[in-house]
Amino acid sequence: MATRHHTLIIVGGGPAGLTAGLYAARARMDHLLIEKGAEGGQVLLTDWIDNYPGFPEGISGFDLAEKMTAQAKRFELNSMFGNVVSMDLSSPVKLLELDNGESISCDALIICTGARPRALGVPGEKELAGKGVSYCATCDGPFYRDLHVAVVGGGNTAIQEAAHLTKFAAKVTVIHRRDALRATQIIQEKAFANKKIDFIWNSVVTSIEGKEGVEQLRLLDTGGKESTLKVEGIFVLIGVLPNNEMLPLTDLNADEGGFIPTDCETRTSIPGVMAAGDIRSKEVRQVVNAAGEGATAVLAAENYLTNLS
Ligand code: NAP
Repeated sequence: MATRHHTLIIVGGGPAGLTAGLYAARARMDHLLIEKGAEGGQVLLTDWIDNYPGFPEGISGFDLAEKMTAQAKRFELNSMFGNVVSMDLSSPVKLLELDNGESISCDALIICTGARPRALGVPGEKELAGKGVSYCATCDGPFYRDLHVAVVGGGNTAIQEAAHLTKFAAKVTVIHRRDALRATQIIQEKAFANKKIDFIWNSVVTSIEGKEGVEQLRLLDTGGKESTLKVEGIFVLIGVLPNNEMLPLTDLNADEGGFIPTDCETRTSIPGVMAAGDIRSKEVRQVVNAAGEGATAVLAAENYLTNLS
């Protein structure tokens, strides 16, 4: 038996969830947003955002998250801290279980659980996490003032964060497994022009070594040649994994990577269940997309609920 019921529940309070919350609150729907950490999600880990419209000078991830939260709260967003551990979506009334044993039901659900950084999975990575191994340049960059750090990855996050790290580090070496970056052209150009950044191409990190902290990396290039690189820190920025542990993945037809497919209205394969933001199966994971999808999801939920009654 659920301890309480809401017409609409939103799980996750990143840009998708907060925008869904704003739209639901403003539409005066009986709603609840459940977030297990700080509202803002991955945006909180982003140093600076230059491509979110309406901020011509750019805005820090922290400030954007704060503004999104304040805007939703202005319309009386109903939110709570809670960790959803499982969902039963097999009947029209959807049931969510929290880790404190509480269960909450709803008629419509918007999944905005987002994604998290992918790890390398090499020896030394876990042991030296927080002692030179980092997944967030914004959080940890200032610890590496005048030191040499490595960044692993060739996507937008890795290359943008490599540039950010040059504000602190003496030198930033980007290690990429191919000979071309995945990052967009403008981000690449800035990095190539930055004298503090150099590149090691066609190479992977095979282990991270050090006693009290990171001292050196072992590398293997595509020709089979091994080498070492002395650095004081390594930032692993190689993409994201879905936060899907609480989701019934088979029922939701999750893709190979565990992300949730939807139609362009954010509707999943289960009636009354929408997915928005980084948890969706898609190519482009931008804050602006996540926000747009959050809005679309509430409108899809309203349509679903209207047709129910
Ligand atoms: P991503 O685009 O998926 O890039 C991941 C990078 O890591 C790729 O270069 C990939 O190499 C590499 N990689 C993956 N697994 C690896 C492994 N095991 N070992 C070594 N390298 C590995 O991820 P992302 O950069 O985190 O970006 C995620 C999404 O956010 C993207 O859609 C991105 O466009 C978006 N984003 C946008 C902005 C912006 O526009 N300002 C900023 C940040 C992120 P390969 O290239 O060889 O596959």
